[in-house]
Amino acid sequence: MLLSPGMSIDDTASRHNLPQANKAGVGSLGQTIIIGSGLTGITCARSLADAGLPVRVLDKGRAVGGRMATRRVMTGAGALSFDHGAQYLRPRTAEFADVLARTGARPWPDATGAAGHVGVPGMSDIPRALGDGLSIQQNTEVTALARRDGAWHLGTTAGAMQADRVVMTVPAPQAMALLGGDHAICAALAGVSMAPCLALLVAFPDNSPRPFVSRQDPSHPLAWIAQDSTKPGRTQAAVTWVAQAHRAFSSEHLDATPEEHAARMLPLLAEVLAVDPAKALHVRAHRWRYAQAETPLGQAFLHSDDRTLYTGGDWCIGPGAEHAWQSGRAMAQDILEHTDVD
Ligand SMILES: Cc1cc2nc3c(=O)[nH]c(=O)nc-3n(C[C@H](O)[C@H](O)[C@H](O)COP(=O)(O)OP(=O)(O)OC[C@H]3O[C@@H](n4cnc5c(N)ncnc54)[C@H](O)[C@@H]3O)c2cc1C
Repeated sequence: MLLSPGMSIDDTASRHNLPQANKAGVGSLGQTIIIGSGLTGITCARSLADAGLPVRVLDKGRAVGGRMATRRVMTGAGALSFDHGAQYLRPRTAEFADVLARTGARPWPDATGAAGHVGVPGMSDIPRALGDGLSIQQNTEVTALARRDGAWHLGTTAGAMQADRVVMTVPAPQAMALLGGDHAICAALAGVSMAPCLALLVAFPDNSPRPFVSRQDPSHPLAWIAQDSTKPGRTQAAVTWVAQAHRAFSSEHLDATPEEHAARMLPLLAEVLAVDPAKALHVRAHRWRYAQAETPLGQAFLHSDDRTLYTGGDWCIGPGAEHAWQSGRAMAQDILEHTDVD
């Protein structure tokens, strides 16, 4: 255990000048609020809700899924989509394979011939399916968090809220920022490191070259390139590509603008594909500041002494989506073991 409830959290409240919860904006007490609708948060919420606990999920993003992300765009060739976060999942356990099967995920053989599983019609459809029917509020950023008078008080962009229990499933550096860097729980979080990743999303006309399904080359600045439109359920109106820069390239250029990322990465991709970059129908770059865990925590989650605050995510155990699922499930199990559920 990691946190002395009361003492340093109250310090955090004053430091962050938290808004006071008022009647109009208050979430009901007895409730668990989960911060983050990525795979960790959705997995935890699903288990708690299925066991009868009132759960509400808040997320600052536009769509459910976090880093299991699918960008949908309208182009001259029609509606296209790009999986610009997680590319595919290779379940290591039968349980996770079962979970994926229930979401409608389908096999996608990459260039090595090994079948990963992908969401259909996009990767974000995996967390979306798992979250079906849950109370999920997107476009709501939690900006402050404090324990006061026996409840958790959240400052959010949608107003002040309260909860009995809070489960933070944001990347470790963002959890630290939310708690205040000198909070007791941050000592453990400080040991976690996460690597950035710059992603490039490009569409070419459907008669363009398709030299490979996917390519992994750690010696190239674009260490991973996938022909996204070869995944099942994707439109064939254009050839879509997702390229991910390797660690060093991503770190070096992290703070440039998305336009600068795109301008730098498009020629690299076009050269590999032997296509004219001017023929691109759509070009966007996306920056993942916290893409994947480099140094994980080494345990499935953290919680406060009184078990009213939990934090977890892929970064607890490893760099992949199955680690996120494991962390979310482990937090839910611990919560249910310590809750009287009638
Ligand atoms: C480029 C890239 C490629 C990847 N490739 C693979 C792969 O091929 N295979 C694989 O298994 N894994 C891959 N991963 C990793 C995988 O995506 C993650 O392990 C998994 O999605 C993490 O889920 P999570 O729920 O722990 O975190 P996230 O998905 O990051 O969810 C956290 C959520 O918290 C929200 N949030 C953050 N701060 C706040 C706040 N203050 N208030 C409200 N909401 C907040 C965010 O919007 C986000 O939705 C990849 C990741 C990236 C970025």
